[in-house]
Amino acid sequence: MVNYKDLGLVNTREMFAKAIKGGYAIPAFNFNNMEQLQAIIQAASETKSPVILQVSKGARNYANGTLLRYMAEGAVAYAKELGWEKPEIVLHLDHGDSFETCKSCIDNGFSSVMIDGSHLSYDENVALTKKVVDYAHQFDVTVEGELGVLAGVEDEVSSEHHTYTEPNEVVDFVTKTGCDSLAISIGTSHGANKFKPEQCTKNAEGVLVPPPLAFNILEEIEKELPGFPIVLHGASSVPQDEVATINKFGGAIKDAIGIPESELRHAAESAVCKINIDSDSRLALTAAVRKALAENPAEFDPRKYLGPARENMKKLYVHKIVDVLGSAGKAE
Ligand SMILES: [Zn+2]
Repeated sequence: MVNYKDLGLVNTREMFAKAIKGGYAIPAFNFNNMEQLQAIIQAASETKSPVILQVSKGARNYANGTLLRYMAEGAVAYAKELGWEKPEIVLHLDHGDSFETCKSCIDNGFSSVMIDGSHLSYDENVALTKKVVDYAHQFDVTVEGELGVLAGVEDEVSSEHHTYTEPNEVVDFVTKTGCDSLAISIGTSHGANKFKPEQCTKNAEGVLVPPPLAFNILEEIEKELPGFPIVLHGASSVPQDEVATINKFGGAIKDAIGIPESELRHAAESAVCKINIDSDSRLALTAAVRKALAENPAEFDPRKYLGPARENMKKLYVHKIVDVLGSAGKAE
């Protein structure tokens, strides 16, 4: 049993309370490897932004749970080395699929877990979420629940269609489960193909603009649960310059469309206090690797293509923190 406090990590409670009051959102960046982690910690340290290191079940299998625990502990030490005296870093399980997965993470140094019962019936979702909350709160670990279903594919999580969150269910769900934050569905989705081109309109420059998020549902939820932390999944904006670089250097990513950053900024100013970003980092990494390898075909030193990838991801993280979520300077 390893408690996150011994690793120097924090849970989400205080940072979410501050984020709601301050009208900004905490970035939750998914990671699987060292370069991503270095880039996240460099970006958060330099901008003094609280940050959530987010790991899916698949990422945990990929990186190894034991190694992850030490990576998180190392991340805290690295942040201090970079001059961040009191790093506010969360290690969070993304899309926990069972009580056992959540318990295993809590027992191995995670400071926050998501239990995703959104594919279950309402009552089953309540029962499972409550079971995880009851266990987690014994160790002061915070829990994210989910109501409503997002479309798209993310590791093991996939759904053809989305179902918007029912605002009239949220009070009952939060009261019965005791969860600390709630992921909702208002039109975001997982992956890099969030919308089909035929769902979009074209702007003056010929860029596809997706249909707007259902901010009316978010407003209703805020009315039902004033001051309660809301989470937005599937919130990558899918930078078109990265997609173009990937395709220019041999890639074949088609019809990749994300959530406009103006909409994410709008969400961050509301009760949305955690915004999940995964695909954008994958795109930034892949674009830099493809470019480096295409331009230097004789190169076989991984540092020569993973180094530029790390730089490109860091640039992306800083941009999200400073220009989109507004969390820069919000850590002590
Ligand atoms: Zn998600």
